[in-house]
Amino acid sequence: MSALGAARKLRSIAGQGWRSLASKPAQNVQINKPGAGFSFELTDEQKEFQATARKFAVEEIIPVAAEYDRTGEYPFPLIKRAWELGLINSHIPESCGGLGLGTFEACLITEELAYGCTGVQTAIEANSLGQMPVIIAGNEQQKKKYLGRMTEEPLMCAYCVTEPGAGSDVAGIQTRAEKKGDEYLINGQKMWITNGGKANWYFLLARSDPDPKAPAGKAFTGFIVEANSPGIQVGRKELNMGQRCSDTRGIVFEDVRIPKENVLGAEGAGFKIAMGAFDRTRPPVAAGAVGLAKRALDEATKYALERKTFGKPIAEHQAVSFLLAEMALKVELGRLAYQRAAWEVDVGHRNTFYASIAKAFAGDVANQVAADAVQIFGGNGFNTEYPVEKLMRDAKIYQIYEGTAQIQRMIIAREHLGKYKA
Ligand SMILES: Cc1cc2nc3c(=O)[nH]c(=O)nc-3n(C[C@H](O)[C@H](O)[C@H](O)COP(=O)(O)OP(=O)(O)OC[C@H]3O[C@@H](n4cnc5c(N)ncnc54)[C@H](O)[C@@H]3O)c2cc1C
Repeated sequence: MSALGAARKLRSIAGQGWRSLASKPAQNVQINKPGAGFSFELTDEQKEFQATARKFAVEEIIPVAAEYDRTGEYPFPLIKRAWELGLINSHIPESCGGLGLGTFEACLITEELAYGCTGVQTAIEANSLGQMPVIIAGNEQQKKKYLGRMTEEPLMCAYCVTEPGAGSDVAGIQTRAEKKGDEYLINGQKMWITNGGKANWYFLLARSDPDPKAPAGKAFTGFIVEANSPGIQVGRKELNMGQRCSDTRGIVFEDVRIPKENVLGAEGAGFKIAMGAFDRTRPPVAAGAVGLAKRALDEATKYALERKTFGKPIAEHQAVSFLLAEMALKVELGRLAYQRAAWEVDVGHRNTFYASIAKAFAGDVANQVAADAVQIFGGNGFNTEYPVEKLMRDAKIYQIYEGTAQIQRMIIAREHLGKYKA
């Protein structure tokens, strides 16, 4: 099927309202049958999204991933193709020209893209992160203007929160927003912004209340900022350990004027909006980590069945087969974790606990499984001619961005203890 044909098909599936069917599994099962009300079976439409993403990853991403990693070039041709196939911006509402898919479907697609290359997947996922504050807090005009344009052409956006002096401690950010008539004047510096040099617009979090005693829930405001606004200086592309084709940059905002129409929600509501986005974006980040781990498992398994030592394939040495078993169980449990977190938010439950569990667990799994894959490859695992060293480098970021491994555990502990204290 041609790219446009596949995209049309995916769009027409979405148009038939299959998402509403998917979110009502009980309609498809008989109540008295074993397993009623709980199913691991994907709908036909979900399988189709998954298969399209898988085919794209295997046929188009994998053949070029090592070269993008070597050069660090931004994978725009792949992103454009993903856009044509309907595999990017999947959650933009139908009212803005998007597919309006749920987090669950986004995760299925993300796992497959990450299987191909997590540098490409992170560039794509950064669009979701930038868009999510607009989806959850934007008014209709803002949604139509900024989300709508992304359905008309393959544009990127970015989420600008982290600063050189504050990452985990978001309430410590220093970028200032000063109200001047009908505008806000922005001054400050952001750091580690994915798609920083490629974005058409940014979600920006800035401090609007200068009082250091103001609570975080009232002190910050979220803005939509056109990337070509005067006063914005984009820094050099950072040279990172892994996911090297993803574009990460620092950005300086100097007397940048933003019209008050671009405030998201209300002045002072920014912290909640910026943090609220993570409930919907951490499950796909976890899915990306699982996709990487699945790739490492597949590569290691194929290698272990071919490579012989002491007269037999290394897969037949118990130490290696048990390593593969551990890797397989981690991949399976990581997938269950992100699917649970995605399902919770799609059915309207508060999923902060599950989103952090999925993100923390899958991030660790990606690192453990990629390192084990390198071990199974022996000396070849340490070499760039084989795919697993890239996987090991690419995996590390899953324990750092969108909340570090430690921050996820703080959230899980807070949510867990809260249930006992309530
Ligand atoms: C490649 C890349 C892409 C990124 N993309 C984006 C993006 O698009 N937009 C964006 O806004 N940001 C982005 N980030 C920033 C990322 O989210 C932060 O790096 C991350 O949140 C950690 O913040 P930090 O680097 O300031 O580390 P710090 O907050 O300084 O933390 C340093 C260490 O201390 C630990 N630590 C901190 N506080 C505590 C605590 N209370 N208890 C226990 N341990 C603690 C951390 O877990 C970590 O191990 C990106 C980062 C990278 C590297």
